[in-house]
Amino acid sequence: MTDIFALLKNAGFAEGFLLPVAPYTDWTSHRNDGLFHPNTAPLADDPKARYPWANAVLICVYPYTPYDDETLVASYYPASNRAYHAMKRLLVMLREAGIRAERAETPYREQLASYGIGSRMDNQLLYLAPYGTYINLQGAMLALPEPVAYTTRREPEEVCDHCGLCKAVCFGAIQGNYAFDWMRCEHTYLEGDPMPLDAMEWLSELLGCMCCQTVCPKNPAGTVPIPDEIRTTLDPVAILRGNRREAGELIGKNLAAGKRLLRQAIVLAANRNRTDALPYLLQLRETDGDRFKNELDYAIKRLQNP
Ligand code: SF4
Ligand code: SF4
Repeated sequence: MTDIFALLKNAGFAEGFLLPVAPYTDWTSHRNDGLFHPNTAPLADDPKARYPWANAVLICVYPYTPYDDETLVASYYPASNRAYHAMKRLLVMLREAGIRAERAETPYREQLASYGIGSRMDNQLLYLAPYGTYINLQGAMLALPEPVAYTTRREPEEVCDHCGLCKAVCFGAIQGNYAFDWMRCEHTYLEGDPMPLDAMEWLSELLGCMCCQTVCPKNPAGTVPIPDEIRTTLDPVAILRGNRREAGELIGKNLAAGKRLLRQAIVLAANRNRTDALPYLLQLRETDGDRFKNELDYAIKRLQNP
């Protein structure tokens, strides 16, 4: 019998949970209430319908630690890219062991929470001891020989005490008592749409923020130094100079796509008062003026009239 848990550790994960294939009714009702970003539409509410051949969902945990300087890019993003590649390695290992396995397009956090593993927090993240909310989750649908040794269901535990600290530092998404407005979360503006003025003014780091995690008293203390490679490659002016390929190696090709990363680099350069960005911004206005009109107008005006 293949030891799936040994394989997932070899692939780079800290741990994993093997769950039955079940529909996620809370997720469905929250989604119907409009709580989630439209981009979550392709996620399966009922994985049985999407993956009729599977008899287990494997959800793997990839923990990370915040950087000592989280003002450039959240440590979540490089970790999420490493977790994605860990899952790619794991899928290869599972298939080599004769197990049918496919990346799961399902709501991992919801799956775990509804099984009593981890706790939902006001910042919409999943708390899982001992990592707190500093985790990236990756999932796979598996066809395993019966009987499957599923992880034991746990009693749900309330961890969030609604202290309001995350709400106080948020752009406006966190409403308290688990209520959340996705359209007021900075991560929403990763999708390549023009950024509204208030979101541009608020942007303090590339690709969104992590302040609702670092401020949470339930999360473990401790940071790691931000690697030099991250600091230099994800510098907003370096991105404007055209280093998207190198950035893609750190945060993944999807996030490094021009419409996402360039848009954010334009705004961040302005918010950091990087006047050395001006020649690149003026050049971009010639080549991509329509695509990034809002952001270029904002950044050039701000840098030319400090
Ligand atoms: S900061 Fe407070 S309210 Fe926010 S998630 Fe943590 S415990 Fe809950
Ligand atoms: S990521 Fe930023 S904007 Fe989104 S909920 Fe957390 S603090 Fe608010």
